[in-house]
This record gives sequence, C-alpha cells and structure tokens, in this order.
Amino acid sequence: MAQRIDGKKVAATVRREVAQEAARFRERFGRAPGLSVVLAGDDPASAVYVRNKEAAAKECGFEGEVLRLPNEVSTSEVLDTVLALNERRAVDGILVQLPLPRGVDEAPILEAIDPRKDVDGFHVENVGALWSGLPGLVPCTPSGCMRLLREARVDLAGKRAVVLGRSNIVGKPMAALLLREHATVTVAHSRTQGLPELCREADVLVAAVGRAKLVKASWVKPGAVVIDVGMNRDEQGKLCGDVDYAEVEPVAGAITPVPGGVGPMTIAMLMQNTLTAALAIEQARR
Ligand code: NAP
Repeated sequence: MAQRIDGKKVAATVRREVAQEAARFRERFGRAPGLSVVLAGDDPASAVYVRNKEAAAKECGFEGEVLRLPNEVSTSEVLDTVLALNERRAVDGILVQLPLPRGVDEAPILEAIDPRKDVDGFHVENVGALWSGLPGLVPCTPSGCMRLLREARVDLAGKRAVVLGRSNIVGKPMAALLLREHATVTVAHSRTQGLPELCREADVLVAAVGRAKLVKASWVKPGAVVIDVGMNRDEQGKLCGDVDYAEVEPVAGAITPVPGGVGPMTIAMLMQNTLTAALAIEQARR
C-alpha cells in the first residue's frame, strides 16, 4: 500500500509555523503582515477560494481585506486598484483572484503588481527569478507540492520526474522547482505522444492537467511518488483528481489524495509567501 501524503496535516503545520513567525514579525516591526485580495465579479468558485484565503490569513494573524469589484469592471479600474495597493505600506501581499471577468485583460494586471508584493508569483520578474535560480516569490501550488515531497522524504536528486501539464500556474513552475532539486524533468502536455509510456518512466509523477482520473495504474511505475494537483468532478459530481486514485494507489509508493492533498497546501503556501514578502519589504525599509 502506498504512503498517503496528508496535505491537510502538512498545510496545518505550515499555517502554524507562519502564525508563529507572524507573531515575531509583529513584535519586531510593530505591525502584522498584510494581505489584500482583489476579487472581481461573482464567480462562485472564486468566492469560496477567497473566503478560505481570508480565513487562513486571519488564523495566521495577518491584517487584510478583500476588495470586491463588480462583474462589469474595466481593465483600467482593476489596474487602478492594484496600483493603489502597490503604494500602501501596510500591504505586503497582493493577490488578484483569477479568472477575471470576461473582457478584463489579465496580463497587464498581473504585470502591474509590485513584484515584491506578488504573492502568487506570476509576475515575469518572479518567473525569471525562479528559472534563473534567484530569490523571488514562487507560485503557491507548486511550492506546496515541493513541501509535500519534502515531508514525504523524497530525495529528488537524479530522479526522473514527469510533470503532466505546462500551465504558468502549475506545470512550468513545478518543472523549475524539480530541476532546482536536481531531478531530471520532462514536461508533458496535450500534444505529447506516448503519454502512458512516458509517465511509466517517472520516479516522481506530478499530474496537473484538469482531466478527471486520466492517470491509470498502467501509467505508473511501481513504487513511484504521485502528486495529484487536479481538481475535477467525476461522473457522480464528486471531487476527484487527475489520477485514478483507486487504481493507482496500490501501485504507487506514495500518493496525494484529492481532496486533502495538494489543495490545502496552496493556501498555506500563500500565507508563507505573504510572510516572506513582508519580511523582505521591512528589511529593505531599514
Ligand atoms: P490548465 O491551465 O488548463 O493547463 C492544463 C495543462 O494540461 C495544459 O498544459 C494542457 O496541455 C495539459 N493537458 C490537458 N489535457 C491533457 C491530456 N489529455 N493529456 C496531456 N496533457 C493535457 O490547468 P492548470 O491551471 O494548470 O490546472 C490543472 C489542474 O490542477 C486543474 O484540475 C486545476 O483545477 C487544478 N489546480 C489545482 C490547484 C490546487 O490548489 N489544488 C491549483 C491550481 C490548479 P496544453 O498546454 O497542450 O493545452
């Protein structure tokens, strides 16, 4: 039976660590780390994500607020909101919840965020820093996956890693992080040929495709570590990953469940990033 990597438990540990550090931060700098979330429109899934982020920020002792903008908002109105947050001294982290309403241009908004406050790690400056091995803010979901691999004591050096998916949010930064830990990394996507055979070569398989139960037992090398980023609904409407858990679990050496795997880590790493940003900002002020 595979080791079940418990993301819920690890995420609680991360939040506790961040809360302790945030208390020290408050003593030292006379204020709490600040996180501001921009929520434009009325997407119900986004509303749930933002509520969870608010709750985690509160638990960590952060100051913060959610700036709500209407569905009919323009690109320049969102831009103005971001630019105002860039100037606010009490704001260390700025997160623009995606997707933005139809008609709002995402790219200029993400690029307008001060890279030092870019707690999602999507700004080109942070993307460049990640690929160049320089310090910067790293996207939350892949850094959560890395923390899970560390907790599961997976030694990545020299291992074959396959990342399924090449999005800017998950696949690409995941590949960069695995490479940084000396894995030999292959990034696969919708045009990749021979996907099952390719995946079967992996010692570490990260699935971030958004296709319910795509990864089958025959795709997985016995004993491999499987990290499932996917969040999908199955035929019964139940939450499931990109990996067919029931099939793959007996083959894998370790595996993350859905729910309770990568999902809780994303918000925990957002809290970590906010603290990291706050410390860097305060240190630069001194
Ligand atoms: P995305 O932007 O839609 O990217 C999906 C990637 O998968 C693309 O690179 C796509 O290839 C590839 N792909 C799609 N179908 C494929 C197939 N049949 N075979 C091989 N590759 C395929 O998605 P994302 O934002 O990276 O998210 C991926 C999944 O993770 C989703 O289920 C999402 O809900 C979940 N997610 C979870 C969290 C969390 O906190 N747990 C956070 C973010 C995302 P092309 O590039 O060729 O189109």
